[in-house]
Amino acid sequence: MGTVEPGYIALYRSGELEHRARAFEARLRSCRICPRECRVNRLKGKTGFCHSAYRPVVASVCAHHGEEPVLSGTRGSGAVFFGNCNMSCVYCQNHQISQDYKTQRCHEVDSHILAERMLYLQDELKCHNINFVSPSHFVPQLVQAVLAAVPMGFRLPLVYNTSSYDSVETLRELDGIISIYLADLRYASNKWSRKFSRVSDYVERSRAAIREMYRQVGDLVLDEAGLAQRGLIVRHLILPNGLAGSHDSFTWLVREVSPTVTVSIMSQYFPTHRAHQFPLLARKILPAEYSEVTGLIDRLGIVNGWVQEIDAAESYLPDFSRQDDPFSMGVSR
Ligand code: SF4
Repeated sequence: MGTVEPGYIALYRSGELEHRARAFEARLRSCRICPRECRVNRLKGKTGFCHSAYRPVVASVCAHHGEEPVLSGTRGSGAVFFGNCNMSCVYCQNHQISQDYKTQRCHEVDSHILAERMLYLQDELKCHNINFVSPSHFVPQLVQAVLAAVPMGFRLPLVYNTSSYDSVETLRELDGIISIYLADLRYASNKWSRKFSRVSDYVERSRAAIREMYRQVGDLVLDEAGLAQRGLIVRHLILPNGLAGSHDSFTWLVREVSPTVTVSIMSQYFPTHRAHQFPLLARKILPAEYSEVTGLIDRLGIVNGWVQEIDAAESYLPDFSRQDDPFSMGVSR
């Protein structure tokens, strides 16, 4: 367990956590939880772009040993994989759970069941944190689960592991609840985000979201065992043919957020799901593309973080038909 008491404990004691949970639930009546602003009544079972109604879809719960070392530590990061998504990436490695919403209906649970699974990850598997994966469309349900879990003895730091297609208004209400933001920076061009992820405003939305995350938690803070307690980690998946806009993204990050921000460079891109239908995405990255990004990191003076080895591509592909163990790989960062 972490040495720093997570902020949601004080919010629980003051009644603020319950207040926020209620306010979030009310916002589901005309959903604007994420930037899509579908305005559907999820309390009455209506669904918008994310195909998600009121109850959270929990596709998998497991100890994840393949996250960044400050998250996985020795006992794993307690991953809670939400089903469905508010993006729709043609190369999504989690497509089995993110884009097959009909199958995911059988994984709907109540918030108190989600709370019990968080307790399982804490007490049985002894994970170092709870890692909410793709949480952007289930933020109200996430907060309700934390509210239910605290009186049951839940104390782990919370990781918000996101595509960064998040609403700033929603993120503000997570201030003090989330300890660690693990945020993708996927594109520097809305042309590519529209074509490959069905998001027409990714660049401005994700950058505003990352600014807000950094405002809340700042640079990464580790405990004496080297485990993350608080802070922002920005993930960047290198895409083939420069589609991720690495130069623009990192230049923006250093200039507009902080040169001391922690980054995680991922070389694991593999053309899965529908990627083969798009020639620009139909291959792994080349050594030259990898070197270009690592050289860029050096030139910009980014010193905090990790660079994944280039041969990582296939070892990271999950299989969510193994619900309790979708990852069975050796990894290194
Ligand atoms: S969370 Fe889902 S329903 Fe709500 S605005 Fe986003 S995509 Fe639409």
